[in-house]
Amino acid sequence: MDRLIVTLDGPAGSGKSSVARRLAQRLGLEFLDTGAMYRGVTAMALQRGIDVAHEPFYVVELARNCPLRFDWEADPPRLYVRDQDVTDRLRDPDVTGGVSDVAALPGVRDVLVREQQQIGRDHPRLVTEGRDQGSVVFPDADVKFYLDANATVRAQRRAAQLREAGRSVDVAQIRKQILQRDQKDSSRATAPLICPEDAQRIDTSDMTLDAVLDELERRVREAV
Ligand code: C5P
Repeated sequence: MDRLIVTLDGPAGSGKSSVARRLAQRLGLEFLDTGAMYRGVTAMALQRGIDVAHEPFYVVELARNCPLRFDWEADPPRLYVRDQDVTDRLRDPDVTGGVSDVAALPGVRDVLVREQQQIGRDHPRLVTEGRDQGSVVFPDADVKFYLDANATVRAQRRAAQLREAGRSVDVAQIRKQILQRDQKDSSRATAPLICPEDAQRIDTSDMTLDAVLDELERRVREAV
């Protein structure tokens, strides 16, 4: 098949990133982490001293003038803003704390949605994950999933990821931040986090990563 777009949407910590990357490997597809793009704009804004919660004009200008680029040779692809590799900044707490304010700006979303659609044309065999991939960016995707899990499980997963990266963690604090982010992402006016009507919803709370992967792989193969 020349084109196979699989979308994976869901809230923070639902396992989307890990699942999307491995699912792409299993199916021989490429993998797009759209959260990284919102995080990239946030990291650049912070680097320039922009107050992301209160200076929306400057954030939107930055998104328009600093095109993002992935290095598709790397696995997972690394993210560049102009010549600067920002990948290692993306999970820092200040970026995580500001990203939902940045992602709520319609001007930023306009730019990034167009870039994602262009990526879809350039890389038409793709597993793409985010909040609006099935609803807004690729409404005609071949297979759409919505992954969910309860907030405690999601916080524990995020904590495990951070521990693995050598960071110190406070699970209660992570859970609080996840719920705040859910609230902002679900209530914003533009492209809020929703489960598209034609998406297959899967609650991963009680599933291992491998079980989720097996299930998704089976469903994609069945669908195409
Ligand atoms: O998935 P990740 O946690 O990296 O996403 C970071 C943030 O980027 C989300 O909390 C959300 O505010 C925003 N986002 C979005 N639309 C996407 C992907 C991410 O609004 N497609």
